[in-house]
Amino acid sequence: MNGADFSTNRHSAHAHMAMYTASKHTDLYFNDGNIVLLAGMSYFLVHQGLLARHSEVLNELMRSMDNTPTLEDRPVLTLPDSSTDVAHFLKAMYDGISFITYDSEGYPTLSGLLRMLTKYKVHHLQNDILRGLSNYWPTTLTQWDAREASVTGQDGTYTPRDSLPHPIEIINLAREIDYLPLLPSAMYDLTRSTPSEAAIGFVSPSTGTTIRLEFDDLQAVLRGREQASRFFSTFIVNNLEGRQPSRGCHRRKDGNPINKRTCQIAFEAITFELLRDINGIISNRTSDPLYAMAEAEQMQIRDDLLNGEASPMKTCEPCRVEFGAIVDTAKEDFWQKLPTWFDIDVSPWGQR
Ligand SMILES: [Zn+2]
Repeated sequence: MNGADFSTNRHSAHAHMAMYTASKHTDLYFNDGNIVLLAGMSYFLVHQGLLARHSEVLNELMRSMDNTPTLEDRPVLTLPDSSTDVAHFLKAMYDGISFITYDSEGYPTLSGLLRMLTKYKVHHLQNDILRGLSNYWPTTLTQWDAREASVTGQDGTYTPRDSLPHPIEIINLAREIDYLPLLPSAMYDLTRSTPSEAAIGFVSPSTGTTIRLEFDDLQAVLRGREQASRFFSTFIVNNLEGRQPSRGCHRRKDGNPINKRTCQIAFEAITFELLRDINGIISNRTSDPLYAMAEAEQMQIRDDLLNGEASPMKTCEPCRVEFGAIVDTAKEDFWQKLPTWFDIDVSPWGQR
């Protein structure tokens, strides 16, 4: 007997044992079912026609069944997956995917299900979940801005890690299921952590294990982080440092020489503020150029609530509008560059 035969026999003996000790699943068990799926310590009585319709892989497996053992007079197909994953998988096929959520709490269910749908080639449900994930790990800047707004509190505090899965999980999942469009935004998200945090990884709240990136991905993240920060420095030098007021500046003709310089002084104050906050200590966002560039515009309309005085960073409307257009172009330009910076081949990218 060669090794392969031995392991097959041992496997089937194992499966045979499991068959008599497994317990029936309370929900996914239909009296008129015509096939038993056995996974871990649970078995499911379900319908061959439904499985075959949704999954070409299961269809093949069921077609090749002969001489299989039976349970409750139905043929048994043993799956190598965990009973929890199989339960979610079957639930998705019978009931749809409305039970999944895209937050960190729902992530273990979602990722397990997505792996199963990929493995068994249930394309339409897989696509539905990928579309949902793409709202949080998008390919367009518009979606990214919407996502950011949804995880920013009213007081401006930014706490995505409380509600969304960690970007390292998303990067690893995208690699596992070979779905690259999730990568650039997840990698950008991770660059907002310090390089050491990105390298050390994070402890999964559901399993307690430390999850890290593959070395190549870590390298891509760190390189992309350098490029992003270079882009931001250039943005400050080219568009903020020594910026002159707009031609249509409301204060241009002010007789008072100090008032006349108000907008210019505001741009100087904004430059100082951005350089001061370049490590994200104040706003709790470590090196996030997309945020910082938008902030440079927002500072121009915000009142100084702390001192109850007019903010020194307030500009007149023509100056702000002119600068706002520069911010929009720079952000879009930045977003377009993400896949190249992270060395990911995604097409189409950034199209609305
Ligand atoms: Zn002005």
